[in-house]
Amino acid sequence: MKRVLIAGGAGFIGSHLCELLVKQGNEVICIDNFYTGSKRNISRLLDFNNFEIIRHDVTFPIYLEVDEIYNLACPASPIYYQNDPVQTLKTCVHGSINLLGLSKRLKAKIFQASTSEVYGDPESSPQSESYWGRVNPIGIRSCYDEGKRCAETLFFDYHRQHGVSIRVARIFNTYGPHMRHDDGRVVSNFIVQALRGDPISVYGDGRQTRSFCFVSDMITAITKFMEVSEEFCGPLNLGNPVETTIIDVARQVVDLTGSKSKIVHCPLPYDDPRQRKPDISKAKKVIDWEPNIDLRSGLIQTIEYFEKDLSGTTA
Ligand code: NAD
Ligand code: UDP
Ligand code: UDP
Repeated sequence: MKRVLIAGGAGFIGSHLCELLVKQGNEVICIDNFYTGSKRNISRLLDFNNFEIIRHDVTFPIYLEVDEIYNLACPASPIYYQNDPVQTLKTCVHGSINLLGLSKRLKAKIFQASTSEVYGDPESSPQSESYWGRVNPIGIRSCYDEGKRCAETLFFDYHRQHGVSIRVARIFNTYGPHMRHDDGRVVSNFIVQALRGDPISVYGDGRQTRSFCFVSDMITAITKFMEVSEEFCGPLNLGNPVETTIIDVARQVVDLTGSKSKIVHCPLPYDDPRQRKPDISKAKKVIDWEPNIDLRSGLIQTIEYFEKDLSGTTA
């Protein structure tokens, strides 16, 4: 069993990763500054002797002894990453440098949670790893998009210059239990609005698309990628290739919750990408993975989680 560091482990995806690796018997250290993460997401793990949590901001150096590192530290929701754009950039850039420095000293393999946002507002669909992207460098989403692009550069330069073993995944929209109810991303917003009987806020005409991957499928992919042989560093697209319009997500959520909420249209945020759909042929080939939870079943599980969360009965 390994000693594993998970930066951003109290967040949505990170908490599921902590749970899997702890239950497999690894020694897991979670570091998090709790900006968007919460102790509640990992409270069930506190009874395990092989789980430890440290409040730490990755923009500062950290000295620990581990065998593997997962870097998920970074707010993923536009509302949160735009709230303090400079800190978002520092987290992406200084945070990556510190964790890569740690990884270099320890000769420990390191995973980077990059994003489909590196493709920006794409000119072609689906997006494959060879596409360089169309990103606005000075807009309100740039702190995240360019921060993540710079982080990818750092990962590949530490690999080429210092021989650090890296795994860079470009994660597409992922959803499921442990998202914050005030996270601001589309799936959590729509479910919370439907459960409260509030209007469902579709931005723009709702014809923009995203491709939604359920979190358990994503965790399988991330851990498989970490285990793949030394030669493959990525970047690797991870996501569900089934593309859905936002208006369709709104209708499905209303249908599955039986809500009386009305769908309303609100202004489209600046620089909102029109389309996003991953080409996952590389992931199929290299890690023999494809998602198997469809949007309907994933939404049902997420709705159940938020029903408990909003009534205060979540563990
Ligand atoms: P999240 O906001 O729930 O989790 C991020 C975690 O990082 C939180 O626990 C937060 O407190 C922590 N964090 C933020 N800044 C930090 C800092 N400076 N130091 C230490 N901890 C810090 O987001 P998520 O959806 O779980 O995303 C996890 C990772 O995956 C992020 O890097 C994100 O960019 C990437 N990603 C997520 C998605 C998605 O759809 N969920 C898509 C693409 C990429
Ligand atoms: N670092 C860290 N933990 C370690 C090793 C390095 O946090 O165990 C940080 C440290 O802040 C350093 C950064 O990682 O500045 C980059 O390390 P690297 O060795 O690449 O650069 P250098 O120390 O030579 O500037
Ligand atoms: N969106 C929406 N209503 C909301 C939240 C988001 O219509 O309440 C739209 C948003 O404009 C975008 C899509 O849903 O087109 C996905 O948004 P999210 O913030 O979840 O992720 P990202 O834009 O980063 O893919």
